Amino acid sequence: MTNNTIVPEPSCADDYDPNSLPVAEALARIDRVVRPIVGRECVALRGALGRVLVETVKSPLDVPAHTNSAMDGYAVSAADLPREDTRELRVIGTALAGAPFPGRGEPGTAVRIMTGAVMPEGTDTVIMQEHVTQRGERVQIGFNHKAGQNVRQAGEDLGRGNTVFEPGRVLQPADLGVLASLGIAEVSVQRRLRVAFFSTGDELRSLGQTLGEGEIYDSNRYTLYGMLMRLGVELIDMGVVRDRREDLRRALAEASRNADAIITSGGVSVGEADFVKEILTSLGEVNFWKIAMKPGRPLAFGRIAEAVFFGLPGNPVSVMVTFYEFVQPALQRMMGQGVSDVVRMKVPCVTPLRKKTGRMEFQRGILEQQADGGLVVRGTGDQGSGILSSMSRANCFIVLPDDCAKVSAGTLVDVKPFAGFV
Ligand code: AMP
Ligand code: MG
Repeated sequence: MTNNTIVPEPSCADDYDPNSLPVAEALARIDRVVRPIVGRECVALRGALGRVLVETVKSPLDVPAHTNSAMDGYAVSAADLPREDTRELRVIGTALAGAPFPGRGEPGTAVRIMTGAVMPEGTDTVIMQEHVTQRGERVQIGFNHKAGQNVRQAGEDLGRGNTVFEPGRVLQPADLGVLASLGIAEVSVQRRLRVAFFSTGDELRSLGQTLGEGEIYDSNRYTLYGMLMRLGVELIDMGVVRDRREDLRRALAEASRNADAIITSGGVSVGEADFVKEILTSLGEVNFWKIAMKPGRPLAFGRIAEAVFFGLPGNPVSVMVTFYEFVQPALQRMMGQGVSDVVRMKVPCVTPLRKKTGRMEFQRGILEQQADGGLVVRGTGDQGSGILSSMSRANCFIVLPDDCAKVSAGTLVDVKPFAGFV
């Protein structure tokens, strides 16, 4: 062996293969960097929809506050229920929701009661009005009724002092109702995340402008707008930035002063990347990754001053895939949201799909319900990363792992439905 044989030196960068960083590894690296932002505000209940709770909410009261009737009917004592045949009880008054019966239910009597009305003292069971025969001031009830039936016990929904919601919860419509049922008019939530975004490219024109030779409309800023709006962040739309050093530097510096996160599209592919890389490196700490996925291979990730930076590819489908796979979970983490696993399903694919090994593919699919109620998925056809209409037609991603080669019709595939997250 000669002395000049070159032996690669082991290095801490060995797991970093710039040609193909696996999706899971990229996610783990992002996860190590992003942290929830600090800052909270108090909002009225109606303004709390979709916001992230930062406090523990405990119930200040029992819900329901009183034991009450679940039906319209007659409140009786279980001791008066006949074991066989029938029994007549004397009706001694009425209990309405909001107007309780002032007296007591004595043995051998019944109180006419409406849904939500407080159970009169001495009663513990409600017989539905459809199950009695009325005879003047008396009602006849049969056997087969159960003690305690049709009654909602005080505190059966929520008990006083019980934890109702934990910090990190994204408040849903039902939660607003639950909070209102507890008499809670305002809650403490995470301040909104500020996200600045812009498109890069000399070929881009804004809506309303006329397209010259080789020019295209800037569509990425609109899909990004839509995806970010759904997350409930505060948007800082910085428009289109030309591929000029000074313009880009100025835009990034301004974004980093105003935002918690910066998202750009375009300018990270080979050729363009060198130019952007130089600016990003001088302003902050940014890594350029080639991710083993399709679409969405080039991705830049790092920090500019205090802001987290995502440099997404320019191709319109790649923008969406990388946003959902990497940016959205990171922003949700920054917003303080608890981890919510995206639903994945295994579904038979009814069309054959082409696929290369060594990368994860996010193909656009259409989930359909068949007559027998079962779900199947089919590809949307051409999977080019510039074909944005494939995202509009699709209702799910078909996620094909690195080692998968082609998919023949009938194979079970992993599907991530858009509903609820796109
Ligand atoms: P780039 O990553 O800048 O090389 O762009 C890759 C491809 O995406 C090119 O065909 C661009 O014209 C296209 N592209 C880049 N930015 C946008 C945009 N904002 N809207 C639509 N297409 C874009
Ligand atoms: Mg470009």
